[in-house]
Amino acid sequence: MCRPVTDAGFILLADQREQIIDHARREAPYECCGLISANEAGVAVTVHEMTNILHSKVTFEMDPEEQLAVMTELKDSDVLHLAAIYHSHPRNAAYPSAIDLNLGGYGNLLHLIVSLADEEPDLRAFRIRDGGCEEASLLVVA
Ligand SMILES: [Zn+2]
Repeated sequence: MCRPVTDAGFILLADQREQIIDHARREAPYECCGLISANEAGVAVTVHEMTNILHSKVTFEMDPEEQLAVMTELKDSDVLHLAAIYHSHPRNAAYPSAIDLNLGGYGNLLHLIVSLADEEPDLRAFRIRDGGCEEASLLVVA
């Protein structure tokens, strides 16, 4: 289990949460993945849907060209930065899998996981590093 962290959480708009859940449902039974940019206040601005080139039910790898396009766009921005990555667990809980822990955390990026295992989707945020994880607070605002 991931221990909770008390540092500043991540702020997501309700529409962005819906977009991530919708993306997960469209890709099921395969995992979906994507990037989230945020402004200087740590508020999510854009959800960038990426192609999972592995088309896998248990792991993901983002299309490198799509990823590069977003990175390039953000590099030119004064206000936006890459804040988080997300992926789905179509049949498992919204906790990092052994595969996720081994993949590492993409630097210091927050890692959002959406689970479709239950009727009500579950979206949680984690920091994954050194093979361990911490759960970060995720605030969804309308
Ligand atoms: Zn995973």
